[in-house]
Amino acid sequence: MFTERVYNFSAGPSMLPVPVLERAAGEIKNHNGSGMSAMEMSHRSKAYQEIFDETKALFRQILSVPDSHEILFMQGGATGQFAAVAMNLIGATGKADYAVTGNFSGLAAKEAKKYGQIHIAADTSAQNHTRIPRQEELALSQDAAYFHYCANNTIYGTEWDYTPQAPCPVVADMSSNILSKSVDVAGHGLIYAGVQKNMAPAGMAAVIIDKSLAGRELPFTPTILSYKTMIDKDSMYNTPPTFNIYMLGLVLQWVKEQGGVRGMEALREERAGLLYDFLDNSRLFKGCAERAARSKMNVTFRTGDPDLDAKFVKEAASRGFVSLGGHRIVGGMRASIYNAMPVEGVRKLVDFMAKFEAENKI
Ligand SMILES: *Cc1c(COP(=O)(O)O)cnc(C)c1O
Repeated sequence: MFTERVYNFSAGPSMLPVPVLERAAGEIKNHNGSGMSAMEMSHRSKAYQEIFDETKALFRQILSVPDSHEILFMQGGATGQFAAVAMNLIGATGKADYAVTGNFSGLAAKEAKKYGQIHIAADTSAQNHTRIPRQEELALSQDAAYFHYCANNTIYGTEWDYTPQAPCPVVADMSSNILSKSVDVAGHGLIYAGVQKNMAPAGMAAVIIDKSLAGRELPFTPTILSYKTMIDKDSMYNTPPTFNIYMLGLVLQWVKEQGGVRGMEALREERAGLLYDFLDNSRLFKGCAERAARSKMNVTFRTGDPDLDAKFVKEAASRGFVSLGGHRIVGGMRASIYNAMPVEGVRKLVDFMAKFEAENKI
């Protein structure tokens, strides 16, 4: 039992900024003089429309989304988008290219196979997804309707440090690094992200889509997954996840107060730097990813001894550094250090790791 907040290194759902939680708590019964909570409002009411419009406008401003692109809020998480992307976009040629650099990009490709011909343009599974392919390694087709990649591999702890180029629209899953650095939105036909890693409570995906790509969906595409419908109805074809959108708005205001994506980028460099510097000098812990491919959001590491890994995860948890166990498919440890993780939390974790190392000499 903890009487205070812990440092939560969960990969998602994950930490939210304390000022956001406090503001939500303060408004939980009466939002802005409406006499009700944001979660009790009709999504067609003026009070709610204001929340919605402000959230969307802030999102556009913070990520510098150009007018060519629309912002959508959709249900079904990032996994829903694995299907939506294929159903909406593959029709142009019936084919798509996928880079498989981890678990989720593999699942995205597998889902897309139901709707067209999928060509694997890169696959790092032979290296256990410890690296990211360079642009010249991508075997891109000339007739793909789109090229899909996952910008940050949440489970393996690798991250693309460049925007891949392709002769077709580029589609990115940014679930675990959106809002942590500036993004070349215009260089993407579509970007999507489940919000529960770096933006809001679980329950929806944010989609940024080049409007010229909408309207080509396969005829059996469910209306609720049609980008054209969602654009035409401003994400309100049916009842949207109203409280999630409200929470996203609070997080975006917090991000803005911290200096926007530039502020977030400085913090992510600081957090990741602290942890990787320690790993590079440790005799007990080793980073899993290749140096050039290291994620600044999900830091994966291990001791090489599964029992010692388990002991570390358990002792860390008892000190308030929780959810440090690696994903069940890879084992080891993973520290997810998203926007809401204070630098102080990483500093204290590193101190604890040094202490653990001293006490567990190999
Ligand atoms: C978590 C995650 C997903 C799955 O998200 P859901 O919202 O649970 O569907 C997909 N892609 C990436 C990169 C993720 O980190």
